[in-house]
Amino acid sequence: MSTVSDSFSLEHPDNKGFSESNKLRRLLPQSIEFSQVQRAFIKEWRHRDKKKPTTKTIFKILAPAEHLESFNMYRGEVALQRSFNFFSSNKANEKLLFHGTNRMCTLGEDRGKAFLCDLLFCSLCSIIQNSFDIGKCGTKHSFRRFGTGIYTTTCSSKADGYSTNGDETCQFKAILVNRVVVGNPHKLQINATPLTKPPKGRHSVVGRPGKSLAYEETVVYTNDAIRPAYLVIYGDIISQTRTRVLKKKSLRPQSEIDSSCSQTNALMEKPAKKNNKLSKKPSHWSSFMEDPYSPRTN
Ligand SMILES: [Zn+2]
Repeated sequence: MSTVSDSFSLEHPDNKGFSESNKLRRLLPQSIEFSQVQRAFIKEWRHRDKKKPTTKTIFKILAPAEHLESFNMYRGEVALQRSFNFFSSNKANEKLLFHGTNRMCTLGEDRGKAFLCDLLFCSLCSIIQNSFDIGKCGTKHSFRRFGTGIYTTTCSSKADGYSTNGDETCQFKAILVNRVVVGNPHKLQINATPLTKPPKGRHSVVGRPGKSLAYEETVVYTNDAIRPAYLVIYGDIISQTRTRVLKKKSLRPQSEIDSSCSQTNALMEKPAKKNNKLSKKPSHWSSFMEDPYSPRTN
């Protein structure tokens, strides 16, 4: 697919008026695209001890054509390797997966705040601006359950655990939804910390809930396998006191690269109680992922 036909490209006809310095396009709440992202975000909120949040705003993350080129090329290569999957419209097995990171600014807090900051430790703005960078993965966190890779998850409430605010005036939280080329995943239930690439013939590692992992996580080992796609601003208004506590206790100074890597806990995660209804894959989300480039109305 050419980058011009990629709906996330700044060159796409729908994205006129946006630029590298203005690359967040706010989705209208009544749009199909907004509904698809929002419903997935809420459906995949699986921690029953966390209240389901309100979605405030969703931005589509646009990128210059050259930033999407290597991603689209990689996806094409993976699709070719999976050509046995003849009837699938999503041969590369691309999925939309969540990633939580730290935000040092007030990006997305109100409708007018859609410009990225240049604060040194604002991983959120760095990822939106430059995408993920595996090169500096693990600079702050020594534990990497499935090795040196970029971690995402299908579980929004798990990614929420990694979403932190550094600015005391923030009232909400922010999470990234990403396009991830999963390809042929290697599924693991045990830790594999030395990994720097997936096993031969595989394109990613998917950690399955089991002995030490309560919620799925997906790891890719090349920058070309992932691009940020949406920014979701969510939650109930956070009190100033709570924000300050969060800053003291939860905000771990980290480079944007480190946050790209880490989306995994060293300790056993607390699983949600078994609930088949909640854990069932939402049909609307899977269909969205099956054809992520179908025309959508904003
Ligand atoms: Zn920022």
